Amino acid sequence: MCGIVGYIGPKNTLPILLEGLSRMEYRGYDSAGVALISNGTLLVRKRAGKVADLAKKIQGDGQLPECHVGMGHTRWATHGEPNDVNAHPHTDCKNEIAVIHNGIIENYLAIKTKLQREGHHFSSETDTEAVAHLIEDLYKQTHDLFEAVQLALQEVTGTYGLVVVSTHEPDKIIAARMGSPLILGVGDGENIVAADASAIIQHTRQVVYLEDGEVAEITREGFRTSTIHGAKVKDKRVHEITFELSQIERGGYDHFMMKEINEQPETIRNAMRGRLLVEQGNIKLGGLEHVKDKIFNAKRIILVGCGTSWHAGLVGEYMLEHIAKVPTEVEYASEFRYRNPIITKDDVVFLLSQSGETADTLAALREAKSKGATVLGIVNVVGSTIARESQGGVYIHAGPEIGVASTKAFTSQVTVLAQIAVMAARAKGMTETDAKVLTKELDSLPQKVARVLQDSHLLKKLAQEFKDARNFLYLGRGANFPVALEGALKLKEISYIHAEGYPAAEMKHGPIALIDENMPVVCIVPKDAIYEKVISNVQEVRARRGRIIAIANEDDTEIAKMTEFVVRVPRTYGFFGPIINVIPLQLLSYYIAVARGTNVDQPRNLAKSVTVE
Ligand code: GLU
Repeated sequence: MCGIVGYIGPKNTLPILLEGLSRMEYRGYDSAGVALISNGTLLVRKRAGKVADLAKKIQGDGQLPECHVGMGHTRWATHGEPNDVNAHPHTDCKNEIAVIHNGIIENYLAIKTKLQREGHHFSSETDTEAVAHLIEDLYKQTHDLFEAVQLALQEVTGTYGLVVVSTHEPDKIIAARMGSPLILGVGDGENIVAADASAIIQHTRQVVYLEDGEVAEITREGFRTSTIHGAKVKDKRVHEITFELSQIERGGYDHFMMKEINEQPETIRNAMRGRLLVEQGNIKLGGLEHVKDKIFNAKRIILVGCGTSWHAGLVGEYMLEHIAKVPTEVEYASEFRYRNPIITKDDVVFLLSQSGETADTLAALREAKSKGATVLGIVNVVGSTIARESQGGVYIHAGPEIGVASTKAFTSQVTVLAQIAVMAARAKGMTETDAKVLTKELDSLPQKVARVLQDSHLLKKLAQEFKDARNFLYLGRGANFPVALEGALKLKEISYIHAEGYPAAEMKHGPIALIDENMPVVCIVPKDAIYEKVISNVQEVRARRGRIIAIANEDDTEIAKMTEFVVRVPRTYGFFGPIINVIPLQLLSYYIAVARGTNVDQPRNLAKSVTVE
């Protein structure tokens, strides 16, 4: 959530900031702003709206001078509505210190009230502004920006990725982190700090991750870090960014979401590359090798995530229990962390997060770790906090996901969970012959998904038919119940149509009351072990004249007689079905959103990488 970028070096800073902000705009996009230092003056430009609106404003206001130090921010509002004034950067009374911030300053009211009493004048409703005034106050004592920021942060509770520039010390940027990611891009005679690597990759591939509680002073020549309390930080390791610039560009598609939907045959393959041993009927997951015994002997596996990752976890529960016979639970990270869960050292907790930065999931990781469980990450972003704090794990290798509504991360997470299930099943006695059926089926999934994608014209047609619907119901059973939830979530996220997912048989206990001739009902009815049961539920909808869209297998000759529309998908092993069946639901949401004219990649109120709790 929220894009942060700071630059110091020989180049003209403003274009670098604007470019970095637009690359990170998926992290937050309700307002944007920049602060630059020019000849001892702080220049701040900000406004509500997108980065493009900010760029227009800057142009309209007249050319800014060339500057060599500055920072920019795209906001996802928590405190105060997204207007021009609340946009970041925020400054002190004298316009000498500017702050941008990702996160929440929980004790901002106390700080603000005290400083107001002492004569500070506040302009915005944000929590962030309190930090700018606090640093102003402390700078009077320290006459050292680095120290003033350290002291200020000692008084602050909450979460932050924070960047500060000041006319007092115009040749540096101060950055600090507690709970929200910050990365330093180490260049040659120039340095960058950003909330994610997409703003850095154009300038350098060498990065250093700031840790929680760390403050950095960044100059043209280099950087130094210490903790907020002044302790030395051991030598920082330099990491290499692994993705390519082309991966964070739209590459001919109208939207990132469509690009990412279409990447799935490749991303599902990548989630299995070097791991799936088809002919041996086995799976090799390097990042779990050293904790294999823990997993195989686990009394219980707990899968923790939020949103789409939570849905992937639900599919994982079906697979782990059915294939590997391990008792499995799935928890919302936000609930897990606060209910003092009963965790033992025999529990294995998998944390699922696309970004690897999700605040609630990270907190759940720490909670489970402190209680002695083995904590393992299933994340996409290499080097992210969850990846670094886990005791092991599996990267899903889906490549950067920019569309705010997650698509390819879901199928890759499920693919990874399927492999963990097969791996555990083998260790617990599944024969090679039985396992080979599963590994072969996994191997065929990318090609089956590609087939669904080729058939997307029907979904486009359905989108025209249903784009004005006010409600949608999604029904599925077994491992396809989470797919129903995910389909409904996708539609809500990007089209703003109210949608609910239910286990198909649960419908009669309430939601059936909603069904009439205007209600579209998406029924996931693959020819698996419970086909007949789902068909009964389809009939119940039909009897009430609901408009049924069936997601059914290619060889199902009966379904078309019962339903208004049928979307055909290839058949697979039942518990792997979600990987295929979710694809038409992603496409349906996409086409409906496009038909309604909403902003598909940046839907209202949402943002990627949710770093607030
Ligand atoms: N809490 C801050 C605000 O509302 C920062 C939000 C963000 O992370 O963009 O302004």
